[in-house]
Amino acid sequence: MKPLSELTRPNIWALKPYSCARDEFKGMKADVFLDANENPHSAPINRYPDPLQEELKAMISPLKGVPTANIFLGNGSDEAIDLPYRIFCRPGVDNVVAISPTYGMYEVCADTNDIEYRKVPLDENYDMDPDRLLAAADENTKIIFICSPNNPTANAFAPEKVERVISEFPGIVIVDEAYSEFSAVRPMRQLIAKYPNLIVLNTFSKAWGAASIRLGMAFASADIIALFNKVKYPYNVNILTQEKAKEILSNVTLLQRRIALILEEREHLMHSVSLLPICEKVYPSDANFFLAKVTDANGIYKYLVQRGIIVRNRNKVELCEGCLRITIGTKEENTKLLSALRQYV
Ligand code: PMP
Repeated sequence: MKPLSELTRPNIWALKPYSCARDEFKGMKADVFLDANENPHSAPINRYPDPLQEELKAMISPLKGVPTANIFLGNGSDEAIDLPYRIFCRPGVDNVVAISPTYGMYEVCADTNDIEYRKVPLDENYDMDPDRLLAAADENTKIIFICSPNNPTANAFAPEKVERVISEFPGIVIVDEAYSEFSAVRPMRQLIAKYPNLIVLNTFSKAWGAASIRLGMAFASADIIALFNKVKYPYNVNILTQEKAKEILSNVTLLQRRIALILEEREHLMHSVSLLPICEKVYPSDANFFLAKVTDANGIYKYLVQRGIIVRNRNKVELCEGCLRITIGTKEENTKLLSALRQYV
């Protein structure tokens, strides 16, 4: 890996971050807070939240097996995807490399930050080739994005392949594990101590069932986390989100039961869809969704919309022609989908 000082944009390396009132008094005991121009009424929402979300990180740490110093929390994964662009990539100069097809936000963030986005297509089995990813990079490539399990293809890549990219690429590798709880493939976050250029993303929006609270996680070296903290908005995770997340984390058993339920439903739904006359192929899934190649993706999509059932039409996405992306719902929702599809002529 190149030194972090060389990978980071010079203005960010030199940046003096905003110092908020709550940072300055830290460590001292007090019960009268007249330092932050807050309103003394309407507690508890009158107070600014903990800028570094320490209590929440302390709860996430043992669950994920990652020390708190290696955790960043943001306003959804979206924030953790955008920040590395702003930290590492010089607009109009640097580029990033990503597998294709993959999650759309990597490219949107590249475009908003004026960074060239280089796509490396997956093969016909939706597998990735580490050599092709590495070959697409040059001296101005700051980041390689690998989403595993990948959206929209739903497959997880072999950890050895991902690790080859991490160990051979001298820049930053971001592995987005938004769906890892639905997969038996070992997650990469355990490797952050071994690879200082690795950033692993995870989110409360999928397995944790809390997309609406907007809470994303990034796991990385303490030095990279310090850069995230320097650039993020000071109070990027609001108090309602922090409190709700703590509540969710206090019932991990329920969470695990729900994941098991989704996996059971996934097996059943994928099998049932594969038997339908409209289905040409069901692709394997390590996520809470799967791709189905169907006889007429546009027609079936519109037909389902008329029935009040919304799936994602991926017909126009590279390598996904003719495919619908179907999220695993409740038993009742999946039954409705199947019965509608059985009636399609
Ligand atoms: N990563 C991937 C791969 C996703 O598919 C999604 C949502 N579709 C996200 C991240 C977004 O996560 P968040 O809700 O935390 O912004």
